[in-house]
Amino acid sequence: MSAIEPRLSRRQFGALLAAAPLAGHGLAGERVQPRRGPLPKEAASIKARPFPLSQVRLLSGSCYTLQDRNRSYLHALDSDRLLHTFRLTAGLASKAQQLGGWERPDIELRGHFMGHYLSACGLMYSSTGDELLKSKATAIVAELGKCQKANGGGWLSAFPPQFMQRLVERLPVWAPWYTLHKILAGLIDMYQHCGDEQALAIALGMVGWARRWADAISDAEMSRILQVEYGGMNEVLYNLHALTGDPAHADLAHRFDDARLEGPLAEGRDELQGQHANTQLAKLLGAARRYELTGEERYRRIVEFFWQQVALHRSYCTGGTSNGQRWRTGPGILASELGSTTQECCCTHNMLKLTRHVFGWSPEVRYADFYERAFLNGIVGTMNPTDAMTTFYVPLESGYWKLFSLPFDSFWCCTGTGVESFAKLGDSIFFHDERGVFVNLFVPARLHWPEKGLFLRLETRFPDEDRIHLELQCERPVSLTLRLRIPYWATRGVTISLNGEPQDASAAPASYWTLERTWKTGDRVELRLPMKLHAHPMPDDPTLQAYMYGPLVLAGTLGNEGLSYEMMYADPVNARRGEGMRGQPVPAPELVAPSSEPADWIRPLGDPAVDLRDVEVVAGSPGDWSRALADGGLAFRVTGQARALSLVPLNRLFGQRYAVYWRVRQS
Ligand SMILES: [Zn+2]
Repeated sequence: MSAIEPRLSRRQFGALLAAAPLAGHGLAGERVQPRRGPLPKEAASIKARPFPLSQVRLLSGSCYTLQDRNRSYLHALDSDRLLHTFRLTAGLASKAQQLGGWERPDIELRGHFMGHYLSACGLMYSSTGDELLKSKATAIVAELGKCQKANGGGWLSAFPPQFMQRLVERLPVWAPWYTLHKILAGLIDMYQHCGDEQALAIALGMVGWARRWADAISDAEMSRILQVEYGGMNEVLYNLHALTGDPAHADLAHRFDDARLEGPLAEGRDELQGQHANTQLAKLLGAARRYELTGEERYRRIVEFFWQQVALHRSYCTGGTSNGQRWRTGPGILASELGSTTQECCCTHNMLKLTRHVFGWSPEVRYADFYERAFLNGIVGTMNPTDAMTTFYVPLESGYWKLFSLPFDSFWCCTGTGVESFAKLGDSIFFHDERGVFVNLFVPARLHWPEKGLFLRLETRFPDEDRIHLELQCERPVSLTLRLRIPYWATRGVTISLNGEPQDASAAPASYWTLERTWKTGDRVELRLPMKLHAHPMPDDPTLQAYMYGPLVLAGTLGNEGLSYEMMYADPVNARRGEGMRGQPVPAPELVAPSSEPADWIRPLGDPAVDLRDVEVVAGSPGDWSRALADGGLAFRVTGQARALSLVPLNRLFGQRYAVYWRVRQS
């Protein structure tokens, strides 16, 4: 076994990020139209579609910053290091320094990150038009092509095909199909976002190998093998079928549909207890694509029932799900499920993808509300904006902290979905149907809809402010329907104006405010969505409560006592268990609630009734929390407690211990 590379210091990594090319940086307003593959042949009725990423540009704001940090990280990763184990497996020379973590040459999952990396580069290219990143990823694809050729033209992986034989022979192996799924998805993303024909050709070669492998496996044997995590092999093969129209790709996709999982879901039975959450989530994305491509209602039923169980009965206030990567309880049993490994980030990533599908079939605000909740609390805030590192989990047991990856020594599954998540932050802000636009997320962005000759600019400091401005620019007057999401949490004081004229804003929470008219350049809509504090009790224990401000989960700051810099980052030595917390939590106090209305006793820091001298300010707490205090916004004081307690948005809290759920006693 080779030696583990030395860990880069924070300073060295900072220098790397600073040196990353910035091409595309100034392109936020430019339209880029990468070449795309043929449109999918869909049999299902799709009622709303998200706009392609290439038609949406983020504007200045926290999402733009996170996108930019991620882009720098993608540039900072060295191509030869990413290719190292692929070349060695193909018998080609490589002198590159090996990567660490789950990409180490002795780790059975090696190569998975390459797939995520290619997906992230493709998504980032569509999001920003960064030509240098596209060139870098295209060159990597060409090198992968050489590896595939050296392997005989089909097989492409950073581990040898003998791993697949281990599945057949019932020998231990981590998750080889999972890894191949990531590589296939990355290649197809490179084809779809960057027009890379070679990427598609390599994917087709891999699928040819997969077909020969699967043809030799009986259905019974396949059913057993499918109990080993295989990512979204069905999803990627359905996606390929949509691109090629080749029925063989659909046939092979069917082989990766897990009947054992789908059977109970089709009958409306939740048998998810004990299951590995993300393993199942990936399979459900395949079921969603099967419904869309074939129109088989059974698969819509499966997906919608699964979504309902996970989003409504198995998710925390954050919209995240899983504990220790599993669903360990029945639906609605969550009070016992708070730990340091609650809500794996991959699960949130995949639930957002699934939500995007179900919203398309039935554009209801409840889906978009869930999307906002999981996006703001489970994606934004899992990247440390100072260094682009991301988390594996979001701990929800009080007294823990966020643990971040290392740039070259982690490469967890969640590092992979992380670079994808932060490469597509413009996704699902806007949807459309034939009549018009749905505005689902309040993220500063500019939409271009060329078929309608329309530019729509959304500007806001939401959630720091409750005002959202929309301005239209039309090549010619255009008749369309504008639908603005009125979230479930906007229960009072919503106002809307059109060109300064107040409009009837009586749309109920969790519905769309709709306006159909002929729009012209300069038309302005202003929406105000006042946020308020509300409690989010555990479904099975109302004395265990979290507090939310609008869509934001608030976290109580518990200080950074005993928390070293090393403890906030992954263990660089122990690759398999490096994601574990090193250190113990501290207890959070019980809250005394003088009323059941939290807004009565949790007061904004800007409130003159709050004496700032009583607010606990933790020395050395980084960035956003201090800024929130300085701004007097989005920071709260819990009044009437034995010790001073402050609440800030969970997605802005870094480098501190925190509490999300509190034991609450009525006074
Ligand atoms: Zn993960």
